[in-house]
Amino acid sequence: MKYDVVVIGAGPAGSTAAYTLARGGARVLLVDFKREVGTPVQCAEFVPSQLAHRFPEFFTEETVVQRVRDMVHLTPWGEVVKMPSEGFMLRRDSFDRLIANLAVREGAELLLRTLFLGFEDGKLWLEKVDTRERFSVNADLVIGADGPRSRVARLTGDHTRSFLTTAQVTVPLREKLEDLVIYFRDYIPGGYGWVFPKGGLANVGVGVDPDFGVNVTKVLERFIGEVISDGWVLGNVVSRTGGWIPAEGVKDPVRDNVLMVGDAGGFCHPITGGGIASAVMTGSMAGEAVLEGSPGDYRDEALDTFGETLGRAVRKRIKYMKSWENLEFIIPRTWIAFEEYWKEE
Ligand SMILES: Cc1cc2nc3c(=O)[nH]c(=O)nc-3n(C[C@H](O)[C@H](O)[C@H](O)COP(=O)(O)OP(=O)(O)OC[C@H]3O[C@@H](n4cnc5c(N)ncnc54)[C@H](O)[C@@H]3O)c2cc1C
Repeated sequence: MKYDVVVIGAGPAGSTAAYTLARGGARVLLVDFKREVGTPVQCAEFVPSQLAHRFPEFFTEETVVQRVRDMVHLTPWGEVVKMPSEGFMLRRDSFDRLIANLAVREGAELLLRTLFLGFEDGKLWLEKVDTRERFSVNADLVIGADGPRSRVARLTGDHTRSFLTTAQVTVPLREKLEDLVIYFRDYIPGGYGWVFPKGGLANVGVGVDPDFGVNVTKVLERFIGEVISDGWVLGNVVSRTGGWIPAEGVKDPVRDNVLMVGDAGGFCHPITGGGIASAVMTGSMAGEAVLEGSPGDYRDEALDTFGETLGRAVRKRIKYMKSWENLEFIIPRTWIAFEEYWKEE
């Protein structure tokens, strides 16, 4: 089987790439080992509103749960800092599914329960998860969109080695909420806790730097206790999730005939953990560059758009966040809502 492009991973990055390419007339195969696109959800599900201006077709009644207005930060020294943060809380499973469905509607072929194994003799080797049957496909180009622990990245060059670890529950909200709530605490080292409203529910989670050696599940239990006693949520857990957030910034986005998009290419903010918007945008940019016949141009466009922002955040993470004392000094220098973040390198 011969394709113009094989896309590995049907998250927002890969499905957007496949959608862009198929719409432009390319012969595309989109591969994911999941049984169903979008599940299980490993996300707190917030996206900034700018993404909806760029990709209005991804934002529907089915994919959007509610609007968000501000981000409210609760600091350990008692200061409350509000920052405008217009955006949407998504149903990530529906969001991912909608983009993959658009790709298929435009003519992309979607193979689920199919694992990417590697490259050999100029071919891509895949395995059907249920039967363990192995087979190969040919493609002029490959798009690596296989998430934070990307196998494509590992097999083609530099890849992310350090991550934030996260744990999250979905629980009922006490009252409707229009803001994202962020907690900085000494017991959440190298990261933060969040309460993100989702209609009558909230995603309550923590992300930590594993180098501090804490147990992320225990950190989450303590955080849930705090947000219950602060009156945000009730304690009955509807669902649990977690996952890895790349913490090193962008890796080389173009490797011969392989383009890296989304988390697989390190396009995720190494402090806030936000990566949906950059996944969609890099997927789209890579697809457009291929359609224009100049896939190599994707490197400059991706680096021009995200390189500086993510690079600055990585440098700050390394400079300030490897010790977790004196948070009144560290937090303003490492979080975007504070003036010090923009002054200091
Ligand atoms: C707990 C948590 C909360 C988060 N909250 C937010 C948030 O609120 N807002 C935000 O913007 N970002 C958030 N993020 C980050 C965001 O989820 C990611 O940046 C985003 O999912 C990246 O999209 P992607 O398409 O690059 O990768 P993914 O969504 O990870 O998709 C990769 C796909 O590749 C498939 N795959 C992997 N390996 C293979 C293989 N070998 N063969 C075949 N298929 C494979 C996987 O099954 C998966 O479907 C959060 C992350 C976590 C862990």
